[in-house]
Amino acid sequence: MTYQTHIRQMLQLPNVLAQCTGMLGWLLSVAINPFLTDGVAIWGWLALGGMVLSCLAMSTARRFVLWRLFALVFVVFEALAFRFQIAGMGEAGYAWMIPIAIIITLGSTILFAQVLDYGIAAGAVWLVLFYGQFDSVSPQTLPLLVAIMVSGMVLGLLLSATFVRIVGSTLQLKESYRLQAETDALTGISNRRALMLDLERVCAEPSPDWYFVMLDIDDFKRINDRFGHDVGDLVLRETAATLSRHFPDGYFGRLGGEEFGVLVKSEGDRELTLRLQGLLDDIRANTQAGSCFSFSAGVTRLAPGSLPSDLFKQADGELYHAKRAGKDRVHYRGAMICG
Ligand code: GH3
Ligand code: MG
Ligand code: MG
Repeated sequence: MTYQTHIRQMLQLPNVLAQCTGMLGWLLSVAINPFLTDGVAIWGWLALGGMVLSCLAMSTARRFVLWRLFALVFVVFEALAFRFQIAGMGEAGYAWMIPIAIIITLGSTILFAQVLDYGIAAGAVWLVLFYGQFDSVSPQTLPLLVAIMVSGMVLGLLLSATFVRIVGSTLQLKESYRLQAETDALTGISNRRALMLDLERVCAEPSPDWYFVMLDIDDFKRINDRFGHDVGDLVLRETAATLSRHFPDGYFGRLGGEEFGVLVKSEGDRELTLRLQGLLDDIRANTQAGSCFSFSAGVTRLAPGSLPSDLFKQADGELYHAKRAGKDRVHYRGAMICG
């Protein structure tokens, strides 16, 4: 999931609630407004329609840029709806312009995931509500109006910046915990949990071209005993690095101890055999760890309806046969295919 999708997911519900509050607030104020003797002009109702449509469009927009745009459009319609209500209130309406501008601008901070978007929206709200009204403001009260406007904008920007920062750092924290939970600390590749998730995802795809390979380093205990745990760890890291080089297009991870799993897409058994032979040769030729080592592996092919637990069992069964047959080899369908 991308950062943008995360942001949308996180803000979707509060956004819809804030927008519904804005729409209900407008309807309620129309219903109880004692100064609306002739009701609200048709433009006010059309602006309410615009609010409903932009709220729906924001909830269903696929592209992030449209999601951002509809938040802006909603706020402009909200300001227009209140402007038309105020226009129907006669002289009494002027006293309500500042409180309404402040409520809309401060209340819409949670609609925006970027401070710039918020700044544009807040500017648009003040403009929509006050456009053409400055002439009727006396020169004595103009500085007060400007001061209220500026402090409202500054406060709104501060709130928006704080909100955006909190959302951003929450997502960063979530992502770093997810990475930690799915990464093997020693080798830096995926751990068992992450590989199981990949396996579950691939099993849900109806593609027959996937293979699951279970690898186990041969005589690893002896490497540890002879050369020490540090060398053992180096062997594990080297194996992980070799897997990364050989399967940049697949999923792989450390299942635990000296066991690794690879989930790879291949055009057929022959292509997979060639790739695994290359991996076996590369591991054997490895001199980085200062000690020669090899692995045994068991392979199974995914079939429609395969379950991760069945694939583990089948690959483990093949691996068991590879060990029993003398190690340093790969088994598939009960026979050695590389060695
Ligand atoms: P086989 O060829 O039959 O697979 O034998 P093996 O010695 O590789 O397998 P065994 O299961 O007997 O030993 C695995 C060893 O791996 C035992 C354990 O101490 C060691 N081990 C597990 N995790 C780590 C680790 O993170 N680092 C190191 N250095 N050793 C580890
Ligand atoms: Mg083992
Ligand atoms: Mg082993």
